[in-house]
Amino acid sequence: MVVEIKRKILLLGDGAVGKTSLIRKFVTDQFNDDYIASIGTKVTKKVIKFNLKDDELNLVLLIWDILGQSDFKGVIGASFYGASGAFLVADMTRRPTLENLKKVWLPRVKQVAKDLPVVFLGNKADLSDLYAFREKDLAEIADTYDAPYFLTSAKTGLNVNMAFYRIAYDVVKKGRFVDKKLSYPVPEEGRLSLIEVADWIMYDFCIEKGDNNFAISMPIVREQYERAGLDPRNPSKEAILKAIKYLAEIESLYLDQETVERNALKRLKMLKRAVSKKV
Ligand code: GDP
Repeated sequence: MVVEIKRKILLLGDGAVGKTSLIRKFVTDQFNDDYIASIGTKVTKKVIKFNLKDDELNLVLLIWDILGQSDFKGVIGASFYGASGAFLVADMTRRPTLENLKKVWLPRVKQVAKDLPVVFLGNKADLSDLYAFREKDLAEIADTYDAPYFLTSAKTGLNVNMAFYRIAYDVVKKGRFVDKKLSYPVPEEGRLSLIEVADWIMYDFCIEKGDNNFAISMPIVREQYERAGLDPRNPSKEAILKAIKYLAEIESLYLDQETVERNALKRLKMLKRAVSKKV
């Protein structure tokens, strides 16, 4: 059976941090430097597929791109209504955009819904020479809210899919699927990068462990990645292969053999999508 649900998410943050570009990258996989910032709120639709035990769950993600200026109070208030999750986007090359997440955007989110799932993004991560704050600064804010964060680039695509899949997962988990075993979503088409594969495996491991907020399992994965010589920012195929093996070893301590093998196969399949010649 195919179950379909609709959820609204918001992209919040100061003007020109890259909200529109992130949506375009995720939805059309294109980045265009000539794009002229749109005025008002724009809604973009994208379907994300999850596997439920025997069913398929289609999440229709309604992505609301809200005007960057922080003084359009009325417009913003109305746009927040009915949201299930929000991205809080800062521009790595401008420090005030990070401070405004704390000062302006987060308080607004909290006004609307105290426990709305949020994901923090440090965008324009490709411009590392121009960073005005560090990853650690973003991590600190995210930690305060017990929320995940990603360094993204709408230009190179770094972590863009992962960030959207993460919020999609959190949003779905929050509702009536809270107790259901959901797979972590995967990009349906196109070539995956090795970075995406390493990230996906990390999430998949956490979910297979039944650790939905990822907090307990992440350190285990990190440890095994280190053991495999896997650099999450620049993973090699060989290191990922090793990591898949090491994670299977760990899983065999608490999962049955069949599940361990199925997990390893599923991860190898992801890796194959990244290294196969066919795009
Ligand atoms: P918004 O106002 O937050 O929607 O920001 P836009 O998506 O309109 O982006 C503002 C400017 O930043 C545009 O010139 C984009 O091309 C540029 N931009 C957005 N994301 C990135 C990124 O990841 N890297 C780089 N180098 N430029 C980006």
